[in-house]
Amino acid sequence: MSDLSHEFSGSEFRTGVTELQGRVRGPVLLPGDHGFVEECTAYNLLRTLRPVLVVGATDAGDVAAAVRFAADHGMPVAIKNRGHQMVLPDADRTLLITTHRLSGIAVNPEARTVRVGAGVRWSEVLPIAARHGLAPLAGSAPGVGVVGYTLGGGLSPLLGRSAGYAADHVRSMDVIMADGTARTVTPENDPDLYWALLGGKGNFAVVTAIEFGALPVTRFYGGGLWLPGERAKHVLSLWRTWQEELGRESTTSVAVQRLPELPTLPEPLRGAFVLHVRFAHLGDAAQGAALIAPLRAAATPLLDTLAERPYEQLGEIHLDPPAPLPYVEGSLGLRTFGADTLAAFTELTGPESDCPLVTVELRALGGALDEEPAVPNAVASRGLPFVTFAFGVGGPDEVAPMEEHLKSYVHALSPWADDRNVTNFVGPDDATTPADVRRHYGADRYARLSVLKRRYDPDNVFRVNHNIPPAS
Ligand SMILES: Cc1cc2nc3c(=O)[nH]c(=O)nc-3n(C[C@H](O)[C@H](O)[C@H](O)COP(=O)(O)OP(=O)(O)OC[C@H]3O[C@@H](n4cnc5c(N)ncnc54)[C@H](O)[C@@H]3O)c2cc1C
Repeated sequence: MSDLSHEFSGSEFRTGVTELQGRVRGPVLLPGDHGFVEECTAYNLLRTLRPVLVVGATDAGDVAAAVRFAADHGMPVAIKNRGHQMVLPDADRTLLITTHRLSGIAVNPEARTVRVGAGVRWSEVLPIAARHGLAPLAGSAPGVGVVGYTLGGGLSPLLGRSAGYAADHVRSMDVIMADGTARTVTPENDPDLYWALLGGKGNFAVVTAIEFGALPVTRFYGGGLWLPGERAKHVLSLWRTWQEELGRESTTSVAVQRLPELPTLPEPLRGAFVLHVRFAHLGDAAQGAALIAPLRAAATPLLDTLAERPYEQLGEIHLDPPAPLPYVEGSLGLRTFGADTLAAFTELTGPESDCPLVTVELRALGGALDEEPAVPNAVASRGLPFVTFAFGVGGPDEVAPMEEHLKSYVHALSPWADDRNVTNFVGPDDATTPADVRRHYGADRYARLSVLKRRYDPDNVFRVNHNIPPAS
C-alpha cells in the first residue's frame, strides 16, 4: 500500500467521508462497502476501476458535494455513467462520481427539444421521443449514455451525414464546475465553456442534465447484410467504390466479423465468419432497396435484415453487443480509404488472415459531419472521411494475441491514418499523454482547450479522462 492510499484511508479522511455521507442523498462508498464493486463495473469487464471513494449521485447537489470534497482533499474526479469508455482511475486517490441515477426525460414537442438527466441512455430516450415524432441523434449502441456520447461529438449511424454531430444540436447543459458551483451553460451565456464541453468531453465540468434539439424523423430504411466472409475481398472492394456515390440521406459502414457461438445471436450468425454491411437510408424503402441492390447481389447473404423500420430501431443497423463483456479495442481516424488501404485492411482481417478479433469495422463519415455547425464546438473529427474501430472479446488469457493483432492492424493502416480520431472511439489506453491528446485535437483546438481548461479547471480536478492539462 502506498503512502497516498494510506492518506486516503486514515481517520481524518474517514471522518470527512462520514460528513460527506450526511450531505449526499446517494450512496457514498469506500472499497469493501456493499455496492462498491457494482458502482465500479465498466462495460469492458477487463477494466477494474479502483477509486478510493465512490459517490453515487442522485442529483446535482450530490455531484456538487462530491466535487467539493475531491477539490478539498486534492483528489482527481472520475465520471462514469454507463462505463463504455472508462480511463482507469488512479487507484491511490481518485473519487469516482457515478451518474446513472440522474434520471428524467422531458420532451418539448413544439420546440423539438429533449432534456435528459446525465444518467439517461439512448434506449430510454428513443421510444419517448418517438411518441412525439422526434428523433435524437443517437449512436449505433442505444445502451450508451446520452451525455458521454454527446460530449464526445456523437456520431449517428443514420442522421450524422445529413445533420452533423449530436453535439451540434445541444441547446444547454447544467453543470457542476471544478469548484463545486452550479451553472447552466448555453452558447449565449458562456460560448467558451459551451464550445469546450462539446468535444472536450469530461475535462471541464460534470454535466448533470443536457438539452438538445431532435429531428422530425420517424422512420428509416436499413439494417444489416451479413455476407460470407470468404467473399470479403470482392465485397469490400465493391463497398469501397459504391459508398462514394451515396448521398447524405444514406449512411454505411462495413465490418469483418468472426462471431462467437452465442445463443443471443441470430442462428445463422453463431460462430460465423462474415462481412457485415450496415446501411441506413432516410428516403423511401424502394429507393433504399435500389441503392443497396449491388451489395445484396454480391453474395448470398447468411442474414438480411434490411427493411423499413421505425426510428426507434436504430440499434438494428449495427446490432452492437448490448451487455458488458471483456474486450480489447483499437481505433484510427483515416484520411482516405483507397485500393492500397483496402489491401492492407484485407490482409489483416480477411479470410487468409489469422485475425482473432470479433469485429473490425470501417465507418464512412462525410456529408454534414464535415461542416462547422451554426454554433461552434470543439468536436475534433470534422472532415475525417473514415474511422475504423476494432475489438476482440476474451478473458485475460486471450488478451495477448488479440492485442498483438490490434497492434499489427493499427500499424498496417498507419500510412493512411489521421492524427485526429472520433473522440468517442479513442480507447481508454490510447491518447494517454498530453502529446497524444494534442495530436488528437490538432494544435489550434488543443491550444484553445488548454487555455480554457486553465480558466475553468485550473487544478485539473477532472483529469481521469483523455486529459487536457491547463495551459501553463
Ligand atoms: C458498442 C459501442 C458502440 C458505440 N457506438 C458509438 C457510435 O455509434 N457513435 C459514437 O459517437 N460513439 C459510439 N460509442 C462510444 C460511446 O459514445 C462513448 O464510449 C460514450 O462515452 C459512452 O457513454 P457512457 O455513458 O458509457 O460513458 P462512460 O464510459 O460512463 O463515460 C466516458 C467518459 O465520458 C465523460 N462523461 C460521461 N458522463 C459525463 C458527465 N455527466 N459529465 C462530464 N463528462 C462525462 C467522462 O469523461 C467519462 O470518463 C460506442 C461505444 C461502444 C462500446
